[in-house]
Amino acid sequence: MTSTQPTEATTPVLRNDFQRSIADYWDREKDPVNIRLGEVDGIYHHHYGIGDYSPAVLEVPESERDSAVIAEMHRLETAQAELLLDHLGPLTAADRVMDAGSGRGGTSFMTNARFGCQVDGVTISESQVEFANGQAAQRKVDDRVRFHFRNMLDTGFPSGSMRAIWSNETTMYVDLAPLFAEFARLLAPGARYVCITGCYNDLTGGRSRAVSQIDQHYICNIHSRSDYFRAMADHGLVPIAVTDLTAATIPYWELREKSSVATGIEQAFLTSYREGSFQYLLIVADRVAA
Ligand code: SAH
Repeated sequence: MTSTQPTEATTPVLRNDFQRSIADYWDREKDPVNIRLGEVDGIYHHHYGIGDYSPAVLEVPESERDSAVIAEMHRLETAQAELLLDHLGPLTAADRVMDAGSGRGGTSFMTNARFGCQVDGVTISESQVEFANGQAAQRKVDDRVRFHFRNMLDTGFPSGSMRAIWSNETTMYVDLAPLFAEFARLLAPGARYVCITGCYNDLTGGRSRAVSQIDQHYICNIHSRSDYFRAMADHGLVPIAVTDLTAATIPYWELREKSSVATGIEQAFLTSYREGSFQYLLIVADRVAA
């Protein structure tokens, strides 16, 4: 490491009132849709699922139906993370990777379990950092998987130190230009960036009513599809694969709408996906040296 590579973030973690409100939301968040699903096997996700659900879960006797539906939703959320991992590249135990907006840490633990690599998760929620580091200790991987109260716009990690970075439903909380500038700085040449995100569809125009409802619900700012590719191109992140997961995520929302852990935002997701104003994308890019 040279003296030009910062080891600590240079600005306060929370930069403005908008970020403080997001941190506050995640610090307080105890939604059963996240907690009860995580309790199924100890892998806590804060993202959505993909793939068809088994209709049999809706036929389970009433006394056990709720648990069966929850386990099925959790299976679909884990399938989403597995798909992300499939695109992270041929990682080894010698590699270091970053989870940008790490939540309660689910995807980080899955990545370490699959590849043995060192994982640094960053989140602006101190309670998430505490929870996820507790999980790392319980799982006895705290020497390899660490969570930090840091801003993904300014992580303070050394330049070129990451072999892969992913953002799983986190990019709608920040402006893409400074985000991808930071990712480009952190990624070694040839390293991988994987993004799963909802974005609004340029073809249908600006934000639809349903997309605006999602923004309001999560205090976020959903970007357009074209915003992603423009900002990636501007920062040496060259897409190698783009998968439209919209059709694959609709069954998850249909099941969630019927579940006991629905939060009230389900209809906005279903409407926007079905009308085509919102899309769920997997974007895989390589860091090309300038
Ligand atoms: N990727 C996780 C969590 C997604 S929820 C998962 O798939 O389970 C969104 C996460 O983004 C929260 O953890 C929130 O704290 C984080 N986040 C939002 N803005 C951030 C920022 N500027 N820097 C770091 N994390 C941020």
